[in-house]
Amino acid sequence: MIQEEILILKEISYKENDKILHALSRTRGKIRIISKGSKKSSSHLINASQIFAYSTCTLNVSKDMYILTSAKLLDNFYNLNKNMAAYYNASYILELISYVAQENEVDSRVFDMTVSVISHLSNCTYEHEKLTAAYELKLAAMLGYKPDFLHCLRCGSSINDESKFSVTEGGVFCSKCVNFGNGINVTYNEILIMDKILKSKFENIGFIEIPKTIMNLIRKFLFYYIGKDNFTTLKLL
Ligand SMILES: [Zn+2]
Repeated sequence: MIQEEILILKEISYKENDKILHALSRTRGKIRIISKGSKKSSSHLINASQIFAYSTCTLNVSKDMYILTSAKLLDNFYNLNKNMAAYYNASYILELISYVAQENEVDSRVFDMTVSVISHLSNCTYEHEKLTAAYELKLAAMLGYKPDFLHCLRCGSSINDESKFSVTEGGVFCSKCVNFGNGINVTYNEILIMDKILKSKFENIGFIEIPKTIMNLIRKFLFYYIGKDNFTTLKLL
């Protein structure tokens, strides 16, 4: 029997009363859990067995799946149900991390950051797009693709002018070196915005002005590195 913190990414109806849950766990990455009897209204597992449920639980390890034996719900981010934009952004985060956690080793920092962004999405009445963009950039950085926004990829000098951001090389070419690499034109201010997003906590993201072009650039950057761009929940954003 093991203790684990889990965030439910997906619930699948199974047999008459059971559910199969896809969950992000704090120390074991993405796992599959069977939650027996959790479709019954009298089940003590009912609250922890729903999408977005964040709980501490005990699991039995069986052959190919974990078995949920008890759970204490920490949060179900109920306010997501009251705000469409928040709900859709949070749904996209779950689909994104579900894919990423399957393909990569993710650590407890990724788990904590995911719970944190869902919590902020749930509690904010606006700024959902900014929170999602910040999550995408921070996720890329945690996966090992942290761009250095302040130094030129080629000559190493400090960036202090408009430059080119290269998605494929994961960095910036200064105005003297722009001809040595392909990239997307970015102003110095936009460079500073991306650097600030990377260094800011979610509670401070709302104070940063983030142009739509930068949100698109961040998404393009993340998708290039994870090798996928066709998330179904993206169509709702
Ligand atoms: Zn340079």
